[in-house]
Amino acid sequence: MRQKMIAGNWKMHKTNPEAVRLVAQIRAGLEKNPVRKTRVVVCPPFTALSVVHQALKGSKIGLGAQNLFWEEEGAYTGEVSARMIKSTGARYVIVGHSERRRYFKEDEHIINKKIRLALKNGLKVIHCVGETLEEREQNLTKDIVGNQLEWDLNGLAPEDLKNVVVAYEPVWAIGTGRTATPEQAQEVHAFIRDILDALIGDQVGARMTILYGGSVKPNNAAGLLAQPDIDGALVGGACLKASSFLKIIQASEKS
Ligand code: PEP
Repeated sequence: MRQKMIAGNWKMHKTNPEAVRLVAQIRAGLEKNPVRKTRVVVCPPFTALSVVHQALKGSKIGLGAQNLFWEEEGAYTGEVSARMIKSTGARYVIVGHSERRRYFKEDEHIINKKIRLALKNGLKVIHCVGETLEEREQNLTKDIVGNQLEWDLNGLAPEDLKNVVVAYEPVWAIGTGRTATPEQAQEVHAFIRDILDALIGDQVGARMTILYGGSVKPNNAAGLLAQPDIDGALVGGACLKASSFLKIIQASEKS
């Protein structure tokens, strides 16, 4: 059985006191309605990782960072290494988010280096892929997503993929309130499994957790999560309020 997962990408939101308040509310909600099959992960900004780790002590909620640098250490002002992330208590890291690809010009070579370094340092990777609206309208979704998987995961072995979760996030659905229909998302998720098998082998596609991301909200989560190849969600806007994040987690439990 594949692991179900609901991960929250807080992006550039929440000061440390706000972050501690939010996780306390999520924790309290999960104590009232415990989850059995869903792995819950929160990804606050770097600045809040340590305080959130403290606030999560004794809970099963996982902690992740939103980015890392591709070198182990050195003169890279402003960057954060895999070891630094691990030292905060975080065990996950998001790589390849479309906002990093777009605003920070991260290409497949950078993303591949980041994924390799994260895995080398024992971090689990949430690897984001997805097409723009223009690409979808030109019928290029599968080419784009297939190429991202091929290049971003280049050189990885089936063994490495145990520590990678793929998140399919159509760029046109992120933060726009516009979401893929469950059928549109399902089609790409099934394609991702096939491509992973073709690229990596050993039938890894069937075993991998694949999340959907892009304006997932309490009112559309159940439909998306009911699809056979959608194992969970990477949630942006709706994870910033405990009440909506908890509702999405419960939708995963019921799926
Ligand atoms: C995201 O940033 O990963 C995301 C899916 O954001 P939103 O849910 O706000 O579209």
